[in-house]
Formats: sequence, C-alpha cells, structure tokens
Amino acid sequence: MNCDMCGRNPQQFKAAVEGSTMLLCQACAKFGKVIGRATQPAPEKVKIEKPETIEIIVADFHKLIREKREALKENHEAFAARLGIKSSILHKIEAGHFTPDMETAKRLEKILGLRLVTTEDAGGKAPVFKQAEGMTLGDFIKVKKR
Ligand SMILES: [Zn+2]
Repeated sequence: MNCDMCGRNPQQFKAAVEGSTMLLCQACAKFGKVIGRATQPAPEKVKIEKPETIEIIVADFHKLIREKREALKENHEAFAARLGIKSSILHKIEAGHFTPDMETAKRLEKILGLRLVTTEDAGGKAPVFKQAEGMTLGDFIKVKKR
C-alpha cells in the first residue's frame, strides 16, 4: 500500500494528521504526528535447516561380521556364498581391508541381523533462528524532528 497522502511511496508510518490516522511514507510522516509503524514487519525467519545425516558403515563392521560367522560356525566359503559375495572379498572384509558398499552392507545387515550402517550428522549445523532488525524508537524520533 502506498502513502495515504502522496500515494507515491510505500506506507511506513501510522501518523495522526489533523485528528485522523493516516498511513504515510517517510517523506509525508513529517506532516503528522507519528504514532507507530504502518505495518508490523513479520519477523524474518531464516529457513530452518534440518541437520543433514549421512549413512556410514560402522567402524568395526569387519569384527561384527567375523564374530557372526564364527558364532554360526561357518567357513568363509559357505558364509560368502550365503551373502552372495566372493570368499576372497569376505576375507578382505573380515580383515578390515575392504569396506563393503552401502548396498552390500545393508544386505549383510538383513541377512546377518547385524547393525552395520549408522547415520551421522553431516554438517553439525544447529537450527538457526534470526530475527530481522526492526525500526528502533530512534527512527521515529528522527522523523518527528524533521
Ligand atoms: Zn507520502
């Protein structure tokens, strides 16, 4: 909405002019008695960013897998066959020399009933609220003096 008086500039102040209340721009506000802001600016909220999480494979995946295999008393070949991977890969996984890709890790989780994938906070960003600075009383006083 534009100024009630000049109609050119945006309304900024609520001012009493000859007994009636008008919404005036900064330039016209000097003709009346400023009693407040024309509009109450809505607090500007910065978009709240959900902390991003990334999936990672737990550090001791090799230990968990080996322990599981040993608990099941299966040899590498039988165990690897059940998991649908090569036994040479299984050797490397159990030695911690090979990290399975996420897809494989999730499949192993399902088959073995282990927790091999976990989520971690990617950025560690806390939600941020920021309030826009409004006009201060000083702004009104300046206008009044003009
Ligand atoms: Zn005006």
